[in-house]
Amino acid sequence: MNFDLTKEQLMVQSMVRIFAEKEIKPIAQELDATGEFPWDIIHKMAPLNLMGMTVPREWGGAGIDDISYMIAIEEVARVCGSTSVIMAVHNSVCCYPIYKFGTDAQKEAFLRPLASGQKLGGFALTEPGAGSDAGAVRTLAVLDGDEYVLNGNKIFITSGSEADILVVIVSTDLSKGTKGLSTFIVEKGTPGFTYGSIEDKMGVRASATTELVFENCRIPKDNLLGEQGKGFNLGMATLDASRMGIAAQAVGIAQGALDEAVKYAKEREQFGRPIGKFQAIQWMLAEMSTKVKAARFLVHKAAYLKDMGKSFTKESAMAKLYASRIAMEVANNALQIHGGYGYTKDYVVERFFREAKITEIYEGTSEVQRMVIAREALR
Ligand SMILES: Cc1cc2nc3c(=O)[nH]c(=O)nc-3n(C[C@H](O)[C@H](O)[C@H](O)COP(=O)(O)OP(=O)(O)OC[C@H]3O[C@@H](n4cnc5c(N)ncnc54)[C@H](O)[C@@H]3O)c2cc1C
Repeated sequence: MNFDLTKEQLMVQSMVRIFAEKEIKPIAQELDATGEFPWDIIHKMAPLNLMGMTVPREWGGAGIDDISYMIAIEEVARVCGSTSVIMAVHNSVCCYPIYKFGTDAQKEAFLRPLASGQKLGGFALTEPGAGSDAGAVRTLAVLDGDEYVLNGNKIFITSGSEADILVVIVSTDLSKGTKGLSTFIVEKGTPGFTYGSIEDKMGVRASATTELVFENCRIPKDNLLGEQGKGFNLGMATLDASRMGIAAQAVGIAQGALDEAVKYAKEREQFGRPIGKFQAIQWMLAEMSTKVKAARFLVHKAAYLKDMGKSFTKESAMAKLYASRIAMEVANNALQIHGGYGYTKDYVVERFFREAKITEIYEGTSEVQRMVIAREALR
């Protein structure tokens, strides 16, 4: 067993850390305040190969391993939750399913521009009545000649109003529940595809969480991704793989909060000495450091299994369940260490505290992760 990162993984870590510190960190607070979508940053990420990380080079990606990809998400999340989720969604739930389930023609038309970062990707499963229960999807696609006609609404879609290409899971047979789901690739600008409201959120505020509206939206038959009726399997296989990326995001947010707490504990003086000299603060920092490290190991183990072509469903869910929980705990304690100042927007821990919460909700809530883990354990 070797716990060392490879030379390539260390290079990715160093490159993304420098980029995140220089380009993202200085504007992360402003992005949070304004909710403005960080297009400038996304455009700078493309030439660094951050927008098609695990897609093979033959399709325009970086062809990099999953552990490197997890490291990159962590480093971005360490400074900005919004940018990290835009990046994770693009890579994990848009590029990945098109690469894994797409035809060569679909890869040429959609994956290549996505993987090179020319275009931005999104993923739409959630509806007003279908969150954890994907079988309750009501958006319907009906075949009409060489086109499918889509009608219905999707909500909470990351980058929804900004993405050029979306992987959308809808029903092609409402009577069949999960067995009636099918997946389509939908392009921005398709007639009949418009946007509803953009959510005003607690955290990851610059990630354009948007309602998508389909009204007699005609999609070429060739945009069916995978087989008709296999949309649930495709969606679950995608989320199995992607949730380790949200776990990496949670580790990044926790690490960012921990770094701030350590810095503050050294600077802030009370009772004539830095608060880091008090055992109560030291113990908090010790627990926080230990949990961040444990969460990172879970993420890297899940990514390692994926890199090795082995089953990773359980480990990916475990990584997300644990990392999101400790992100909440670590961000909370980092804020506590900052005292009253931590409760103000002058200190970045206030934002980390808000950003941590979403990692327990999207790409499967913690309750859903427990269902996945228990199902695997009881097999
Ligand atoms: C900022 C943000 C970004 C998002 N981005 C996307 C995106 O890009 N694409 C997309 O498709 N979706 C996205 N989502 C949606 C997200 O994945 C869902 O919100 C999430 O899956 C939960 O669904 P829900 O909100 O409908 O909650 P519900 O499913 O209604 O759950 C409510 C509560 O009940 C619990 N619960 C539900 N079923 C069970 C059960 N069987 N056993 C025990 N407890 C249960 C849940 O865990 C939760 O605590 C995003 C959401 C947010 C907030």
